[in-house]
Amino acid sequence: MSVTIPDCIFCKIVTKEIPANLIYEDDQVIALKDIHPRAKVHLLLIPRIHVPSLAQLETKHEGLMSHMMLLLPNLAHRQDLHRGFRIIINTGKGGGQEIDHLHMHLLGGPQLPGF
Ligand code: 5GP
Ligand code: ZN
Repeated sequence: MSVTIPDCIFCKIVTKEIPANLIYEDDQVIALKDIHPRAKVHLLLIPRIHVPSLAQLETKHEGLMSHMMLLLPNLAHRQDLHRGFRIIINTGKGGGQEIDHLHMHLLGGPQLPGF
C-alpha cells in the first residue's frame, strides 16, 4: 500500500491531486514527459509508492525495480528511440536529485551528447 507524503509533488501527480498528462500507467508506476526536457524525448518513470531515492531501496522493492527496468526499453520503443536511449537516476543531493521521490529519467533523440 502506498503512503502519500503531503509535500511530494510526484505523490500528488500519482494521486491526481496535481493533473498531469500520463503517457503510461499501470498498478505500480506512471510515466510522463519531464516539464523541463533536456532532450527531444525526456520521460520520467515514477513508482506509485513513495521511496525517497535509490539509496532507500529495500529488498521488498525488488519486484518494482525489475518491473521498471523491463519497462524502460518498452517505453523507449514507443517513443521511436530505436537507436538507443539513456537512463539517469539522480540520487541524493550530491547526485543532483531535486525531487525526493525515486524516479528514472528516460532520455533520447537524434543523438545524445557524450556523457
Ligand atoms: P531530479 O533532479 O530530481 O532527478 O529530476 C526531477 C525532474 O522532475 C526534473 O527534470 C524536473 O524538470 C522534473 N519536474 C519537476 N516538477 C515537475 C512537474 O510538476 N511535472 C513534470 N512532468 N516534471 C517535473
Ligand atoms: Zn512521493
